[in-house]
Amino acid sequence: MASLVLVGGAGAVEEQEQDPAPTGDVVVYLLDHQYLPTDELTTIQAEINRIFSDAGVQITWVSNASPRRRLAPNELRIVVLPSDGTRWFQGPSNIIGIAPHDDTGIGRNCFVFYRQAIWFRQQAVWRCRQAVEARIEASMRGIEVDPYIDSLAPEDCGDRLPSLTALIVARAAAHEMVHILLAKLDHSDEGLMRQAFDINELWAVGSEDGPFRLSNPEIMALRSFSTETAGGSH
Ligand SMILES: [Zn+2]
Repeated sequence: MASLVLVGGAGAVEEQEQDPAPTGDVVVYLLDHQYLPTDELTTIQAEINRIFSDAGVQITWVSNASPRRRLAPNELRIVVLPSDGTRWFQGPSNIIGIAPHDDTGIGRNCFVFYRQAIWFRQQAVWRCRQAVEARIEASMRGIEVDPYIDSLAPEDCGDRLPSLTALIVARAAAHEMVHILLAKLDHSDEGLMRQAFDINELWAVGSEDGPFRLSNPEIMALRSFSTETAGGSH
C-alpha cells in the first residue's frame, strides 16, 4: 500500500530530499493525482484550514512533493486519487477516504477518492433540481412548499453546487487527517469524526459547518500540535 504513495512525482521526491522539514503546526504534503483545477485545490485547502483553525492548528501546505524520509508525527500526506481501485482496497464502494494505519493507529497517508466525491455531488444535484422544481410549482399554484422539499436542498442550493465537490473532498480529507494526527482508531457520535456523512449535510457552508466540527476532546488533543500552545506558558 505504501508504494502507491510514490507513484508519480519521482522528480519532486528527489528535489525534496535535501530540504529540511517545512515549519508549521502540521505539514501536509498534498499529492494530487486527479490534476484538480487550481480554484478547487484552493477551496479544499481553505476548508481544511478552517476546520483545523478551531483547534488553533495552522497547516503548512506542500504541493505535489513528498520527502522520502520518515514523516514526523506532525506531518502527513493527503493523496487525492481518481478512485479507490480494487487491487489494493477491498471494501464498500461508498468509501470516500481511508487512512491506512497499524494496530496502534500510526499511519501517515490520507487517501481521498475523487470519483466518490463526484457521486455525492451528483446526489446533491438531483436533490437540488427536485427542490427547485417543486418550489417553482408551489409558487405558481400559490401553495406552501412541502417540508420534505426543504429537507432535500436549501433555496440557494444552485449557488452552492460549484464548490460542493471540493468541500466534500476537504471534509473527507480532514476526517482522515484527524485519524492520523491523533492515531484515532474509533469514530465519534457527531461532527467531523462520524463514520459517515449524510448528503443533506454537505450543503452546509462556512459558519453552518456544525456537521463537520471537531469535538471538544478532539480540539484539546489537536492543540498539542499548535506551536502557539506548545510555546506559551500554561
Ligand atoms: Zn473514519
